[in-house]
Amino acid sequence: VDSNTQLDMEKLQNSFPGFRNKYRLIKRIGEGTFSTVYKAEDLQYDYYDNSWDLDKENEKWTPPPLKRTDYSTQHTSQTLDHAQRSAQTLGHSSATLDYMQHREQPRRRPKYVAIKKIYVTSSPTRILNELELLHDLRDCQAVCPLITAFRHTDQVVAILPYFRHTDFREYFRKMTVPDMAIYLRSLFTALSYVHHKGIIHRDIKPTNFLYDPTSQRGVLVDFGLAEREGTECKPCLCHDDPNVRRSRLRAAHLAGTGPHNGYPKQDTRPSRRANRAGTRGFRAPEVLFKCTEQTTKIDIWSAGVILLTILSRRFPFFNSADDVEAMIEIATIFGHRRMRAAGQLHGCMFETTIPTIGNVGFSFERIILWSTCRSDDREGLSKDEKMAVEFLARCMDLDPSRRISAVEALDHPFLMMGMD
Ligand code: ADP
Ligand code: MG
Repeated sequence: VDSNTQLDMEKLQNSFPGFRNKYRLIKRIGEGTFSTVYKAEDLQYDYYDNSWDLDKENEKWTPPPLKRTDYSTQHTSQTLDHAQRSAQTLGHSSATLDYMQHREQPRRRPKYVAIKKIYVTSSPTRILNELELLHDLRDCQAVCPLITAFRHTDQVVAILPYFRHTDFREYFRKMTVPDMAIYLRSLFTALSYVHHKGIIHRDIKPTNFLYDPTSQRGVLVDFGLAEREGTECKPCLCHDDPNVRRSRLRAAHLAGTGPHNGYPKQDTRPSRRANRAGTRGFRAPEVLFKCTEQTTKIDIWSAGVILLTILSRRFPFFNSADDVEAMIEIATIFGHRRMRAAGQLHGCMFETTIPTIGNVGFSFERIILWSTCRSDDREGLSKDEKMAVEFLARCMDLDPSRRISAVEALDHPFLMMGMD
């Protein structure tokens, strides 16, 4: 533990009254855009004072019912200072968000926890959103549950069971195709549950899916950017019948309000607002095309990017600095023609004169052979790899409506390979 981390840990321990009696900080395990995460020992772990039960038989977490009566998201006002807003949004009553409930029976709880210290610069509504979505997903084994959350002035910490995992970069190059199938089956099991609840994770990437290659189990974390499907949604052409879409595009073109030529020679995407939250390199094409009616399928694309990374043994696979570059990278693979069609789905014109973007692009098979230095190999991909590539193509379909869903994915022969 270096001295800076030591200092941060001291600060955290002092920022909550009684913190030292509850947790012993061990080390820093993660640092993201929105939080720092520490591993800690729960000092009262065998003396249970809240109602998170670990049902041994079903290996399932049972949380307390959400008992919060006095918070309101309506009160967020620009004029209040941040601490005040936090208090109003996240509850006045006590420093502990009321996820906790007194129980007479002592219960077991995990000895090690992950303490997620959410940066005070995150908006209170955002923090509340994350906590609420986690609460909604509490019954899913493949989603890391929220044990409790505390607030002290404008500082919020979330307490999660600690999940042992290995850094993706340490194992992804060594994975066999059956290993990939098991990994992705675990990820898609989590996604099928999250999507069934109508929630879009929005930030699927290796650091948000904690995986233990030894036990071959994984959990999904980080719902900081997640949202319910249909939030801030405006109709997008991609949800129309293809005939309706064509006539609308034609009408817009005639009226001169339609998509213009020139992109990405010059950015002429509609200046509409669309949720672009996520991580560069993992954003689905419809996010880049500013689709205003995004669905859970954006997570499937990102999961596909993870598979492409593993198959090609290159991380990060996409390395764009911005959305325009990201589109060029995708267009290089898929080719101009398919990229143009993908843009039109959302009322965007994709035009480019970049010479490396061909009309038809390249197959995933060729890309994987190249990136694993097997381009001369006459045999090409193995039978297993071909099955993985077939699945990959279903995940990385430019058209979200044709892209495979998480539930369908679990029945795909490739993921069936990952069944015990
Ligand atoms: P951020 O919003 O800052 O990305 P995350 O929730 O993704 O926060 O957590 C950041 C990192 O902390 C993760 O990539 C992971 O390494 C570690 N981490 C988060 N939750 C846990 C957990 N329950 N168990 C173990 N490590 C965790
Ligand atoms: Mg994260």
